[in-house]
Amino acid sequence: MSVAAIIVAAGRGTRAGGGEPKQWRPLAGQRMIDRTLAAFEAVEAVARIVAVLPEGDMARLTPRGRITTAAGGASRAASVRNGLVALHGTGTGKVLVHDVARPCVTPALIGRVIAALDRHAAAAPALPVTDALWQGEGGRVTELRPRAGLYRAQTPQGFDHAAILAAHAAHDGEAADDVEVALAAGLEVAILDGDEDNIKITHAADFARAEKILRGRMDIRTGSGYDVHRFGEGDRVMLCGVAIPHARGLQGHSDADVGMHALTDAIYGALARGDIGRHFPPSEARWKGAESHVFLRHAAALAAADGFAIGNMDVTLICEEPKIGPHAGTMRRALARITGVAEERISVKATTCEGLGFAGRGEGIAAQAVVTLVRS
Ligand code: MG
Repeated sequence: MSVAAIIVAAGRGTRAGGGEPKQWRPLAGQRMIDRTLAAFEAVEAVARIVAVLPEGDMARLTPRGRITTAAGGASRAASVRNGLVALHGTGTGKVLVHDVARPCVTPALIGRVIAALDRHAAAAPALPVTDALWQGEGGRVTELRPRAGLYRAQTPQGFDHAAILAAHAAHDGEAADDVEVALAAGLEVAILDGDEDNIKITHAADFARAEKILRGRMDIRTGSGYDVHRFGEGDRVMLCGVAIPHARGLQGHSDADVGMHALTDAIYGALARGDIGRHFPPSEARWKGAESHVFLRHAAALAAADGFAIGNMDVTLICEEPKIGPHAGTMRRALARITGVAEERISVKATTCEGLGFAGRGEGIAAQAVVTLVRS
């Protein structure tokens, strides 16, 4: 039995300002809904993610990978029910229900809720109330309320799928959350430690708070790469994925694409995962004459598997000849195709050595590269 998540995003609330429902508004460079979905995508145990959207907004989220969509209902409870029904027949054993308005949820908290469902039919994170609680009227405190045993509820709330489906089927009308529905059905709900950063975005000021939390978590890495190949016999050089006719070729175990090797090493460097030689040992015959896009694709895939996007790539080719300028555009397009990085984030430039050193004497070509990886 697998784990599924329902992201409740069918609200049309505009209390948070901005004129449109908050799930579509940008938050630290992405839409709030994409931030929330990414937290669940980062948890391997979550096999399916159902985003429940306003009926008129279905086209605003394209199903991808583990993510599917379902149309919301007239109330939050009805939307959750639609999500639960969408999971029917998928072999889902545990289901997490999460509000899209909590985009700062961490994969760690999601994992804790999933783990708790091994021991409980229902479990949800919450934080004990630590502030004094007042009853007030007309701007004055009328009474103090006891706070002992009170909690502030969070999501994701986790349930045995069959149990919460039955609880929702038996529940009439609105509910503040799914724990309310579970309790009404007689389910026992375990309280897990919540997370102070797992805030619910309700008012306009909450966006700024969430941005601060998310940006504080952003992981930015820089890597550098350097490579040299010597000239030998040949009638072309391979540079950044483009074959350029030339009076000589570059020598090497692979196709000797010095630019792509520097870029590949820069990605490995940013990940602190060694270099090309470690991943593709020249001692292995199978890499003889290999096309270098194999190496660059491998490094880009390693970055993606670690949750990193390539922010930008910048490579400098160091040679007297051939002239790079006329080919730089083609090279950028080739690198964009290979890595999936947008062309405007890829720079290819060149310099000569004023006749100095090995590159200046035309004995070979050097390349240096810098790459930035971003995980947010
Ligand atoms: Mg090399």
